[in-house]
Amino acid sequence: MYKETILIVIDLINAFSPIELYKLSEMPVEQLDLKRRKNINNVINWAQKNHILTTFICDSHFPNQFENSKEIPHALVGSEQTQIMSWVNVPKDSKIFQKHTYNGSKNEEFIKLLKDHHVNSFIILGTSTGACVYKTATGLKKKGFQDICIVEDACADYFPDRHYLTINKILGDKLFNIVFSNELIMNNNFF
Ligand SMILES: [Zn+2]
Repeated sequence: MYKETILIVIDLINAFSPIELYKLSEMPVEQLDLKRRKNINNVINWAQKNHILTTFICDSHFPNQFENSKEIPHALVGSEQTQIMSWVNVPKDSKIFQKHTYNGSKNEEFIKLLKDHHVNSFIILGTSTGACVYKTATGLKKKGFQDICIVEDACADYFPDRHYLTINKILGDKLFNIVFSNELIMNNNFF
């Protein structure tokens, strides 16, 4: 079957940067180590080579409008913390969307793009695995999309344990496909 695939990059913004890279990080995701950062850019480069559109969905919050009342204030609209981390390869033709909730598929402009491009296959990476990555994948599934693939070693979590718990839950319950970045890049039969 013909597949229209897009890559979704979740929340790779300064607010979640490892503190070694950005001192003003609000919720540092230290699990975004050198290896994971390399994997992320490898997948983005692979997508570019294969003419897969890359989309970035990034937190941007008004004060007191965070995902829930327990969240540490982060990524305020217009702040430097809402900018994509400097090490991330942002292709020129990529699209950047904002979100105010864990579930990135609530952005209507993003949904319009999926319809306009007849997208039916998704590759998702970014942070945090157990929050925005998982909730966005779940949101897409609720909208009827079945072909959803999460790149395990290109995701990271604010709580490293939650990363592995989430991946194990997805595998155990067969919710989404899980791949490693190398598998994705080496597999010429992906399409
Ligand atoms: Zn947020």
